[in-house]
Amino acid sequence: MRLILLGPPGAGKGTQAQFMVEQHGIAQLSTGDMLRAAVAAKTAIGLQAKEIMDRGDLVSDEVVVGIVSDRVDEPDCAKGFILDGFPRTVAQAEALDEMLEQKGLRLDTVIELAVDEGILLDRIVKRAEETEGGPRADDNAEALAKRLSVYREQTQPLIDYYSGTGLLSSVDGMQSMDEVRASIETVLKEIA
Ligand code: ADP
Repeated sequence: MRLILLGPPGAGKGTQAQFMVEQHGIAQLSTGDMLRAAVAAKTAIGLQAKEIMDRGDLVSDEVVVGIVSDRVDEPDCAKGFILDGFPRTVAQAEALDEMLEQKGLRLDTVIELAVDEGILLDRIVKRAEETEGGPRADDNAEALAKRLSVYREQTQPLIDYYSGTGLLSSVDGMQSMDEVRASIETVLKEIA
């Protein structure tokens, strides 16, 4: 099973991806986590990405497409994967289509976690307070405002993109964590 989780920062993509990892034994491919790991390890990509991420902007399409392509070839992706935080631009979605075609793979579904923007700031403030070892460098009001505007301008168009391919399902992300989880499982059963 190969799927994309789509939604703004704070929508709950990471939490739900983790549930699916446990339930279905597929891998979670979070470009945010991969980039943060590169920053922590001070790799060439990490050094280049840090400043961009801290201010809430997007790392170049070329860099993220490259890391996802390598990651998909790892053995833990054999049963499938959840893309969390990728694609984030139409150019990335097109690159993903091409990449999967070259690898002889296809997407099963794209699940949008739909949430009211008003609650996102509260959720992210809460996450910043709860994060062990201190908040993420981009979980502050200024970077968050930037991340939300980047989401609206660059990532929201993907809803139309995937709706056009017939792959899109929308789940109400304002429900409780368990209800969202159940709604996602319903979508997955429908496509199985
Ligand atoms: P959130 O889902 O809370 O917005 P992520 O952890 O997915 O945060 O991403 C954090 C940051 O990492 C983004 O603001 C961006 O700078 C960078 N990033 C993650 N994924 C991508 C991507 N697909 N394309 C470009 N930049 C990305």
